[in-house]
Parts: sequence; structure tokens; C-alpha cells
Amino acid sequence: MTKRLYYDSSDIHEFDSVVEDVAPPSPEQSHPAVILRETAFYPTSGGQVHDTGWLTLEGAERLRVAEVADAEDGRVLHYLQAPATLPAVGVRVRGSIDPERRRDHMQQHSGQHVLSAAFVELYQMPTVSFHMGEDYCSIDLASPSVSAEQIAGAEKRANQIVFENRPLRIRYVSHAEAEKLGLRKLPPEERDELRLVEVADFDLSACGGTHVSASGQIGSILLRKTEKVRQGTHVEFVCGDRAVRMARRDYSALNEAAALFSAKLWDVPEQIRKSVEESKLLRKQKDDALDELAEVMARAALQSQPAITGRKIVVRVFSDRDIAFAKLFAQKVTRAATPAIALVASTVDPPGLVFAQTPGGSADMGASLKQVLSSVGGRGGGSRDFAQGGVPAGSAVDVERLLREAAGTIGG
Ligand SMILES: [Zn+2]
Repeated sequence: MTKRLYYDSSDIHEFDSVVEDVAPPSPEQSHPAVILRETAFYPTSGGQVHDTGWLTLEGAERLRVAEVADAEDGRVLHYLQAPATLPAVGVRVRGSIDPERRRDHMQQHSGQHVLSAAFVELYQMPTVSFHMGEDYCSIDLASPSVSAEQIAGAEKRANQIVFENRPLRIRYVSHAEAEKLGLRKLPPEERDELRLVEVADFDLSACGGTHVSASGQIGSILLRKTEKVRQGTHVEFVCGDRAVRMARRDYSALNEAAALFSAKLWDVPEQIRKSVEESKLLRKQKDDALDELAEVMARAALQSQPAITGRKIVVRVFSDRDIAFAKLFAQKVTRAATPAIALVASTVDPPGLVFAQTPGGSADMGASLKQVLSSVGGRGGGSRDFAQGGVPAGSAVDVERLLREAAGTIGG
């Protein structure tokens, strides 16, 4: 088993060790790995992600540690950034972990202890899982819902613990002793000795992660989105430097939005609400105007068209109106008093054809449309009274000629 230096101190960033074993790349793992006698590198576990850093060999050659993982036999695997020449077994190395990444993980992880304890203390909501992502962290609470007041309450309590700068202490106890101590979460009884992390007079839990030595180092705890999940409620949060970075990003976005509206930051939601209402109204006005226009155009088209055996055939190609308008026009034509057929097309992208007749008419719109489109490789179809289709994109098809052809066939 690899001796884990981070168990005793999270502040060890540099250490000396010896290469005990190496693992060349394999089909399952493309990166070669180094196993050391002891290490300060934290392997991904318990929701906390691994450290990164360097291994400097005796001859001053430096190897980049890209990932760190636990092996089943209790050894720690330091995966090297490929391609890398593996050092010989027995070689002395100096390990150095990336301090900023470590500090960030310590802030997030310790913040999670405090936050989880705050949810238990205030609302009896236990944490069932913890996840540390690249941008934000999250816990899942065993509660079907968490209100906005509870979120604000837990955030306030957690930050209070931060401001009080309470010490975080590590100690080791037997599983039997731990049972008597009333841990927030007791792990399954598989190990005799448990590593306990205590936030003085606030939280006691078993954990193998890296933590700050006093709660003030967490910096601050900012709660963000909540989401209902299968096992309860998912709560996103960020601590320390991440909280500042995220608040900065939020501020920039909000500030940009406020500038677009020439408004104050806190007036942005109201401005957006107004703007949405306005565009809804404009859309409605536009739809009404188009409807009226189609009605007027349909009436004019019908008037200028003589009826043949009690039926009018209107042919129309729109080069400046879309297919939705062409459809509207066809509807207006076929719902007028005189039985009519509308053979309409729009050449606006995407071009399309609409064939419609007054419901119950004797022609077959679906069949007529299919017939004219088959000659140019287009696709479409519909019922006896209404059909819609299109010609191949980019083709130089004369749609007006197609409509005239169809009119000839139907009228003939
Ligand atoms: Zn922990």
C-alpha cells in the first residue's frame, strides 16, 4: 500500500520518494503509471477529484502527472502524460503537486462538509452524494424539495461557520468508537480504523479527503441552481476563489444585459419581462395584418378570375412571401363563397407548393401535386382537399409553369 502523506497534512506540496513499480500503457489505459513508496498526490475518490503535478527524477528529468487514481490493492497510481519514458524501479523522485488546484479542491471539499452539516442542522436534510466538477460542485439532498428560503438559510448558516474561522481537525478512531460519536454519516463497516474530520463544534464525519485547517480558508460559500432529481434535490454550489470568479462572470453578463437596456442591474428582469410582452404583442399584430392581407389578396384574385362550370382556379406564385403566407392565401381562397381551387407557390427559401380546394370539391389535390412534383424530383403529398410539397433545394424549377400545368390538367 502506498503511504498517503496527505492524510496527515493537506499542506504538503513537495515530497521525496522512491519509484516502487511502473505500469506501461495497456489497451485499457493509454497512459503509463508510476507507483511511489509514499505520495502527497490525492487520487480521485469520495467526490473529490485528483491532484496534478510533477515528478522530478534524479537526473532532473520532469514527468507530468496528469491523473491520479486508487488501485484496488491500496496503491496510488500516478498516470503520466503520454508519451513518457517510464523511470526505473528504485529511482529517487521529488514529487510536487499543483498548489492552486489543491487549494481549490480543499476549499470546495471543506465547504461541502460545512454546507451538508448546515442542511442537517437547520432542515434535517442529509446529503446523499457529492460531486466536484470543473466549474461548480454539487450535493444531492435526500429531500423531495428545497425552498428558496431554505437555500438562503443554509447558505447564511454555512458562511457564518466560515466567518467564525473554526478549526478543522483530523483524528483516527475505531469503527466501534465512531458509532458512539454520532457522525453525520457513518461509512459501512469495512475498515477498522476511520479517519474523522471535525469542524469544531459543528460537524463530524468520516472522510479521506484533503481539507483546509480552519473554516475561514474556505473563503465563502455560494449556492446556485437547485434541481429535482430521482434521489432528492440537487444543489449546486461554489466555494472560495470559484465563488468570486463565478460572481464576477455573473456580474459581467448582467452588466452587459443592463447596458443593452440602458437600465440598472436590478431592473433587468423587469426590462426583459416588458420586452417579451412587447414582442408577443408585435407578433400578434403582425399575424393579424398578414391574415387581413391574405384575405384581401384572395378576394381580389377570385374577383378577377372567371368561374368555369361554377368553379374558380386561382394560380399564384409569391416571390416575396414565405410558404406560411402562401398557405394562408390558399385557405382564404378556398373558404370564400364560390367553390375554388388554389394552386399556390412561394419561391422564398425554402420554396414550396400548396394545392387546396374548397372542402368536398371534385378534384384530388394530393394526386395533382404528386403528379407535377414527380416530373421535377420534388416531394410532397396530402389529402384530396389540401396538399403541400417542395421542389429539390437549389434546383432551377419554373414553379409557375408547374402550377399552370396542374391548372390545365385539373381544369381540362
Ligand atoms: Zn472531506
